[in-house]
Amino acid sequence: MVDPVALLKELVRMPSVSADPSRAGDSQRTVEFIRDRLVQLGAEVNIVDNEKTDGVRRYNPMLLARLGDDPDKNTLALYSHYDVQPALLEDGWDTEPFEPLERDINGESYIYGRGTNDDKGPIAATLCAVEELVQEGSLPVNFRFIYEGEEESGSNGFEETLRKHHEWLGKIDGILILDTSWFTDDAPGLDYGFRGLAYMGIEIQGPVKDVHSGLGGGIIPEPMDDLVKILSRLVDGHNRVTVPGFYDDVAPLTPEEKALYDNISFDLEQFKQSNGLNALLTDDPKQLLMDNWRNPSLSIHGIEGAFSEKGGKTVIPAKVIGKVSMRLVPNQDPKKIAELFTDYVEKLFKDLKSPNRLTVHTMATGDWWYGDPSHVLYEKARGILRDYWGVEPTLTRSGGSIPIIPFMEKLFGASAIAIGVGQNSDGAHSQNERIRVKNLVGAKEVLKRYFQMLSAVKLS
Ligand SMILES: [Zn+2]
Repeated sequence: MVDPVALLKELVRMPSVSADPSRAGDSQRTVEFIRDRLVQLGAEVNIVDNEKTDGVRRYNPMLLARLGDDPDKNTLALYSHYDVQPALLEDGWDTEPFEPLERDINGESYIYGRGTNDDKGPIAATLCAVEELVQEGSLPVNFRFIYEGEEESGSNGFEETLRKHHEWLGKIDGILILDTSWFTDDAPGLDYGFRGLAYMGIEIQGPVKDVHSGLGGGIIPEPMDDLVKILSRLVDGHNRVTVPGFYDDVAPLTPEEKALYDNISFDLEQFKQSNGLNALLTDDPKQLLMDNWRNPSLSIHGIEGAFSEKGGKTVIPAKVIGKVSMRLVPNQDPKKIAELFTDYVEKLFKDLKSPNRLTVHTMATGDWWYGDPSHVLYEKARGILRDYWGVEPTLTRSGGSIPIIPFMEKLFGASAIAIGVGQNSDGAHSQNERIRVKNLVGAKEVLKRYFQMLSAVKLS
């Protein structure tokens, strides 16, 4: 039976929470359930062990599958994740999060439950679209499935595992990311970019152990004092990052790119309200979206080693680590930015003439992703979405980071596209997560037509 609603409900009942090792059995059940479904469609399925090991826990495996092997057809890789965020009724859910419930809200039917939007709805829509094509007896393209089980925990082991097994999947001509949502409730959405990341630690070591401020205050050079002076100089009064060379490689805004922002309906007040924000750095909605999506930023997150409990404690910390991250955009190289940052912080520290010791650590880097909206994958998707929904789709980016997308593009030498399934208002990661039935069924239809359309296109 080709019914994405019924399939989604079955998936939601399996609490595949990757953050909770005691749910490993449920995750395993979920991946085997998907495997069985794919095998019924005639796919060859390989559940491969996660390459990441730390001796303590077993990370969820990755499902790889092949369906169709016609060398004259395009081969599409479909990416989703079968794990979900944690959820408990006590968190404030109206109903049991792993007991799917269909409910009407203002005349629209929704399915509630953890994973309905992120990312089991997209999996159900995809599997049903492929199933319909199999039943109709013709595969317009060859399919490759890449379903990971650690996305909600930072995609543990994704790169190592896929690098080890990707050859089994063969040549890939296009990558479909099915793990995003519509930006607004009234128009289908495509995503074409995410920012990259460089996460840095600024470590300053003074005395060998913490010192009572009654003893050390006024007589020793305090590491915290050095750190705060450095942190205060990373961004200027106009909110520009002061690291020399930081903006050198940022891609200039072209008129074509600028025009993409004309079609986006975005309400600043609503945005503030739904995110609990009381002030923004700009009142211009387009500028705000650009600053979030296509311009880089720097944030200070915290200071390790500093006293942060309630009340007063008269201590001078011996060692402090300032945590700073930068969200990066085309064409900034995260490793190069990490080096520029390190050089700059070392210079600021030198200027302080402090006898303390400074070490700058690169804690993590991740690539940005930019999917060219004029690429044929986008051109065809826009046409089909427009036809099906009767509305021009919005093309959006995100200020967040999904480094596995540029990783797969490089690994396979193919372009990616992210097709939204649910809506941003569905509450992914939050209480009462849901998906509109219309979106689920629509995604199945749109994907099916998209696969058919791509049979006539030369992707590579
Ligand atoms: Zn997701």
